[in-house]
Amino acid sequence: MRVLIAMMKHETNTFSPVPTDLTRFKNWAYYTGTDVLDQFGDTNTPTGAYIDHARKRGCEMVTPLATEAMPSGPVQRDVYEDMVETILAPIEAEPFDLALLDLHGAMVAEHEPDGEGCLLSRIRAIQPDLPIAVTLDLHCNLTQRMIDNCTMMIGFKTYPHVDMYEVGDQISKVMFRTLEGEVSPVMVWGNRPILAQTLCMGTADIPMSGLQDMTRKLEREGILAATFFGGFPMADIRDAGVSAVVVGDGNDAQARSACNRLLDAAWDDRTRFIYTGRPLDLAVSEAREHTEGPTLLLDHADNVGSGGTADVMEVIREVHNQNLENVAVGVVWDPVAVRMMQETGLGNRVSIELGGKTDMPSIGRLGEPWYVEGRVISLNDGRWTVEGPMYTGVEVSTGPTAVLDTGRMRIVVVSFHHEPWDTGIFSNNGIDPIQCRYLLLKSRIHYRAGFQPLARATICCDGHGVTTSRNDQLHYEALRRPIYPLDNNVHS
Ligand SMILES: [Zn+2]
Repeated sequence: MRVLIAMMKHETNTFSPVPTDLTRFKNWAYYTGTDVLDQFGDTNTPTGAYIDHARKRGCEMVTPLATEAMPSGPVQRDVYEDMVETILAPIEAEPFDLALLDLHGAMVAEHEPDGEGCLLSRIRAIQPDLPIAVTLDLHCNLTQRMIDNCTMMIGFKTYPHVDMYEVGDQISKVMFRTLEGEVSPVMVWGNRPILAQTLCMGTADIPMSGLQDMTRKLEREGILAATFFGGFPMADIRDAGVSAVVVGDGNDAQARSACNRLLDAAWDDRTRFIYTGRPLDLAVSEAREHTEGPTLLLDHADNVGSGGTADVMEVIREVHNQNLENVAVGVVWDPVAVRMMQETGLGNRVSIELGGKTDMPSIGRLGEPWYVEGRVISLNDGRWTVEGPMYTGVEVSTGPTAVLDTGRMRIVVVSFHHEPWDTGIFSNNGIDPIQCRYLLLKSRIHYRAGFQPLARATICCDGHGVTTSRNDQLHYEALRRPIYPLDNNVHS
């Protein structure tokens, strides 16, 4: 059996000023041919599961591309087209028996708001009868075109996403059973006009915990795959928002009913998808009361994992001004500062304008560097392998990396954008996170994968940034209206 396995992933924040060029993909993951097997075999990813299933059955595997970039602005047109052409080329050359795809669901290219729907429709145009299974992120913004151009799909049930292998394994089993004539998948989907906030999508919290329990219960009752997507709200596209997709076994009505129950439950709980903030100085002064660490301080409006610039210094400066001690910061993006620290050398003191290199026109703010003095206490190449529960086994690169010690604060400064979801970001830079009183993380929910077990307390610190939870700061033009909570009198 000839099987195509491909990964093409990006969560596009259309408000982000960070460009998405080929380098951005190469900085995180860009592999072709047999390198895909070497890099993603034995990893906690859907592609890892696909490889295992194809190997177990002795399939001929063709792996034209496995690529992902950290979230950022729209993917450049030529980069998108090159990636799609790379995946299409072997299908054009010779038909396949099966395609197993590892996609995100919220990819927007400069010329195409539905990156996944476009890819899938182009595959189908070449080989209309090709069975296609797709895994998607929990932050997928689902479209009719994606549904129309695949055989079955499934999304992650966890946020942080620690079940990537599991969902790849599940959909592979269903797909191979289908090919053997054991099951007859029927796929139905729907959405509701809710623009849920990422900060309120943690699957340990209400309402996501209950919705994901419902999907698992449906699967125990015979549904082949049930998924509830929180969606990705930082995308000004028509279909952003919550949705659900249910793959039933031959019974369309049963799948439709299950899908509606999921969406109705989300609608009933819609107010729980919205975050209510408070002034930054109050949040940081509350942190001062926590004397036993580590206490986590979340700079969630500048979250790289949703397209943040990682160089907004507002929360860091407030923590400094309020004299919090024994703080480790993960991470500030500033390749210029890293170069200066390399030139200064290990153990020496340096004065720099840290961060604030990126303007954010979508929210009307200019980058504001923070003038700071400190000692360089670590320099390295930023390469390490994840040992924690999310992306286990994947090699990470933060590019040339340095640590600045200001006395009260140790700041990890990186050259490639990186969301701190794993403690390796500190331990590989000479900082033991358990010994810190405060860990200031530019993260929203993914930090829980690595840091929740260490945390004595967690405090949301509302700074500015392009991953803000303040809807009044974002200007939507393409999004379908009316939608909750942006409009009044929205009906399901
Ligand atoms: Zn996600």
